[in-house]
Amino acid sequence: MKLLFVASEAFPLVKTGGLADVAGSLPAALAEEGVEVRLLLPAYQSVLESVSQAELVAELELAGTGIRILQTVLPGTDVVTWLLQHSNFSDRHGNPYHDAHGDPWPDNADRFMLLSRLAALISTEDTALGWRPDVLHCNDWHTAPAIALVHLSARRPLTVFTIHNLAHMGIFDRDTFNRLHLPQQLWDDGSMEFYGQCSFIKGGLVFADYITTVSPTYADEICRAPGGMGLEGLLSHRRDRLSGILNGIDSNVWDPGNDTHLEYVYDVESLDRKALNKSALQAAIGLEQVADRPLIGFIGRLAEQKGLELMLPVLEEILAIPAQLVLLGTGEAEYEHALGTLAVSNPGTMAVVLAYNETLAHRIEAAADIFLMPSLFEPCGLNQLYSLRYGTLPLVREVGGLADTVVDADAANLAAGSATGFMFREPDAAELLATVQRATALWHDGAAWKRMQLTAMQQDFSWQRSARRYLELYRSDN
Ligand code: ADP
Repeated sequence: MKLLFVASEAFPLVKTGGLADVAGSLPAALAEEGVEVRLLLPAYQSVLESVSQAELVAELELAGTGIRILQTVLPGTDVVTWLLQHSNFSDRHGNPYHDAHGDPWPDNADRFMLLSRLAALISTEDTALGWRPDVLHCNDWHTAPAIALVHLSARRPLTVFTIHNLAHMGIFDRDTFNRLHLPQQLWDDGSMEFYGQCSFIKGGLVFADYITTVSPTYADEICRAPGGMGLEGLLSHRRDRLSGILNGIDSNVWDPGNDTHLEYVYDVESLDRKALNKSALQAAIGLEQVADRPLIGFIGRLAEQKGLELMLPVLEEILAIPAQLVLLGTGEAEYEHALGTLAVSNPGTMAVVLAYNETLAHRIEAAADIFLMPSLFEPCGLNQLYSLRYGTLPLVREVGGLADTVVDADAANLAAGSATGFMFREPDAAELLATVQRATALWHDGAAWKRMQLTAMQQDFSWQRSARRYLELYRSDN
């Protein structure tokens, strides 16, 4: 089986969020299941700078512009990776999607339509690559139009479209649609039209043979308001083709027993060593080196989605429990400012690092006792999965992938030995605080806590498990 997997980012070449983790891991896991995978990515300037060897394998004319396809291997895997080289991607520094001020690149529609067109071309024509897939798997709005284009072709592969986050839809104005010279029928039949504007994601949602999203609960949530964000009608119409497949984690990168970012590795046999990471982190980031209170961690984009509105009003009450807080993230200026101010007025008990820092992310996962993830919505979420593996018990809202992966420490689950974390339902700061109090109280019961940690660390969120689910879909009839 030949599979073309297309995404706008893939770890370790380029990463802004969870999509990169998926695109960096799933193709390799599918290759292990015997699938012949090709990964297609834009050759951003930073990607070209980081790949050591890339061979020019094709030069093509696409929608009136010349492109080059470079072949390399995704570092750390055997996955053959094609990079789309074009000045719009390759001659530009910085974030894949926006400029230094956070404003989207003005030519994003053109850039990602180019990526989509290339994916469609490889999938339907005999190109200089000498390779045509049986399955085209596209991810998020950047690559969704490829699915629409492929479905207008007489010769096409099976198509799968994965929603990693429905909040990003790729909406542009009508003039952009015209400028891109897309087939008029995609506008007229509504398949790329959304309330008078052009929607890239709809192209994938309308046409894909199979739609997946990254957790079963999120698959339900997007079929109704408000989770569907205006697309609930279309998604519930396609419910028979929509399923939720949980993301896995890269268990080599996120392994407390073999994590090169850590000063002290540990596993279920040596869980006591986790405390060494806590005191090392406390020292490194200016927290009091005390062992008598839990350390609560947060890592993520500082965006409304991640529950900042729930956290901010109660952070000082959490400190007063008493507990310590460490937060790592970048994002909206008002959240960065609010957190920075709180950290200044709570020295020694609250540390805030406003940066993107992989090493620190690993060290927080290893050091913290509790991981806070009170998201308003969460398609799958990765940090709670890393936390489980690191014995850092997640405290989450009961939404999306969080609801599917964390087992609340209620009386029944504690008695059954299945509890792995803490969950609350309403998007309400008081409920969050009460749940933190519940968790910190249990933390003082060392034996019960350790039992939960061991259960959490032994959960299987490997990519192999997820890859088999995707493989079942690829093997279905269209
Ligand atoms: P999302 O994709 O919505 O941002 P996920 O939990 O699915 O959220 O994935 C986020 C990924 O990005 C995780 O791997 C997380 O560790 C990482 N991450 C987010 N912010 C930071 C940061 N400031 N420093 C290091 N890693 C971060």
